Amino acid sequence: MDTREVEHLRRCVELAGEALDAGDEPFGSVLVDGAGTVRAEDRNRVADGDATRHPEFALARWAAANLSPEERAAATVYTSGEHCPMCSAAHAWVGLGRIVYVASSAQLSGWLDAWGRPQAPVRSLSVQEVAPSVTVEGPVDELVPAIKELHRRLAERSGS
Ligand SMILES: [Zn+2]
Repeated sequence: MDTREVEHLRRCVELAGEALDAGDEPFGSVLVDGAGTVRAEDRNRVADGDATRHPEFALARWAAANLSPEERAAATVYTSGEHCPMCSAAHAWVGLGRIVYVASSAQLSGWLDAWGRPQAPVRSLSVQEVAPSVTVEGPVDELVPAIKELHRRLAERSGS
């Protein structure tokens, strides 16, 4: 994990914070091409009632529309939280490359339990359980406290 990669992950945390401030859930993702250039970014947008509007899903669809198969395979998706099964599947179906996440699905699931919040409606699975050919790195410990704090704020908001 070099400095530039940590910077991409910091941007994911920043996008997650923007999502939370806008009434959405704290998730953000950045797609970087094989040359190291940021090509697309997005954040969670579920507040309008469409719970499939995860940034990783949006980036997979963006990649399918805008990148060649070779470019997709060479791209890396950085994300604040490990892809859910829907997003892992979309990532694999469009042939994207590596994933680097800050916090794992198992960590998020554990936090929700600890805070007495309901689990997601889809089973918590690692990316590799859904998409075994995708290279995955994470958690990235130095940024986990920042993303945990955003999820704690969401839990507090949802619980009141
Ligand atoms: Zn997802």
